[in-house]
Amino acid sequence: MLCEICGEEEASNTCRLCGRRVCGKHYNFNQNICRICEEALCSVCGRNLSIGYCKICGRIICEDCSVELSIVEYVCIDCYRKTIGSL
Ligand SMILES: [Zn+2]
Ligand SMILES: [Zn+2]
Ligand SMILES: [Zn+2]
Ligand SMILES: [Zn+2]
Repeated sequence: MLCEICGEEEASNTCRLCGRRVCGKHYNFNQNICRICEEALCSVCGRNLSIGYCKICGRIICEDCSVELSIVEYVCIDCYRKTIGSL
């Protein structure tokens, strides 16, 4: 089976998040995830897939690291502590 990202190299690794089979070039061995999931990973904890952007700093954040301001607006926990949390 070939890598599901490049389609060229032998896929010897499986992403723990999306289940894609990928080659060594498209795999993050530290986190056991593929490059696509790596790019979609939360900028705060680096563990979970992001669900949206922080309204203040613009980083991508996961459910655990976000505070919901409204149905469509999120801020990261860092910005929340720095701004809203300290008011
Ligand atoms: Zn590949
Ligand atoms: Zn993946
Ligand atoms: Zn997170
Ligand atoms: Zn933020």
